Amino acid sequence: MSYKRIVSLIAALLLILLAACKGSEGGNAANSPVPSGAWTEKPTAAPETQAPTAAPTPEPNMAPHSVSLNDNSAAYSQEVRYGGIEELREQYERAAEIGSRHGIYIYIADLVPNWILAHGNETQCDPALVKRSLDQVERILGYYPEGYFDQLLFDEFYGLDLYLVAYSSVAMGYTSFGPEVDPVGGTDMSRMRHFVCIDCEDLLIDTLSNTLPHELAHVTDRRLQYVSEHEEGRLFSEEAWNALNPEGFVYPYDDEELTNEIIEQHVEYLEYFSNSYAMQNPLEDRANLMGYLSRAAMGDSELDPDRYFEPCLIKTEFYLRCLRDAFDTSSWPEKTVWEQALEVLMGGGN
Ligand SMILES: [Zn+2]
Repeated sequence: MSYKRIVSLIAALLLILLAACKGSEGGNAANSPVPSGAWTEKPTAAPETQAPTAAPTPEPNMAPHSVSLNDNSAAYSQEVRYGGIEELREQYERAAEIGSRHGIYIYIADLVPNWILAHGNETQCDPALVKRSLDQVERILGYYPEGYFDQLLFDEFYGLDLYLVAYSSVAMGYTSFGPEVDPVGGTDMSRMRHFVCIDCEDLLIDTLSNTLPHELAHVTDRRLQYVSEHEEGRLFSEEAWNALNPEGFVYPYDDEELTNEIIEQHVEYLEYFSNSYAMQNPLEDRANLMGYLSRAAMGDSELDPDRYFEPCLIKTEFYLRCLRDAFDTSSWPEKTVWEQALEVLMGGGN
């Protein structure tokens, strides 16, 4: 096959895969009856909520994990990859340094490969923007427990790549939401690696610490699901998750079916979801929860227990316990920043 043919085949494959994950909020913010970033914040006159059902609390499974991890040691001693932009010299070095600290690979500006750019992303080469994006990435990654990203490398996954890009106003690969869509992040898992693609400007201006944790939650979900499928007695399963949704609720899954009409029908369920986009499927539900929780946990939104609906907090609490259950937490702190924040939001811990 010609080089061009191979490139276009890869691009076509990526379009299909990436279409599965739109930007965390850019996807249908316009459709959402809940303001972007609300994370189940109560309206001023909050309706009385029905008594939430507590999440199931099975005995913790203390069996050692049988998930064997792929070697990620090279990611901790990365050589600096210099691109061709002299003004970015220091940022190329920082990208390698931050990546080496966390065991992930960070690609900036002209280092972002063409196959990523092939579906509508553009490089972001503005030195000030790149610098501030890396500041933000460094800050956010610093909240994750030591070795967290290593544990995402099992089975066919051999690395985690973070691409800092700019998106074009009409992004190829995201057409199912129409040309007005401006996606802010995406994940994929082709080429035996996870990758996360983030719009630098979004990282700085719009949702602050929401988007990157949202996308990392999608990657994290692959571990939850893998462990659930391969190990006996784990806490997480889609059935257990669904049990925390309102009775009768079914995720539409299909983008096309998440119409305004359905969102309106589901408005009564909104206290169970961080926003209407989270109703699309369980992956977006969990990623949105973690995006919003991260924002609170990382100090970018207010931690006010009176502002949040309890059913959503119960789902979040279950999710965090599932993380503990699905990861080797031997190097984790006693409480992660998410657990600390949730404790505050649930009114002091219960
Ligand atoms: Zn998402």
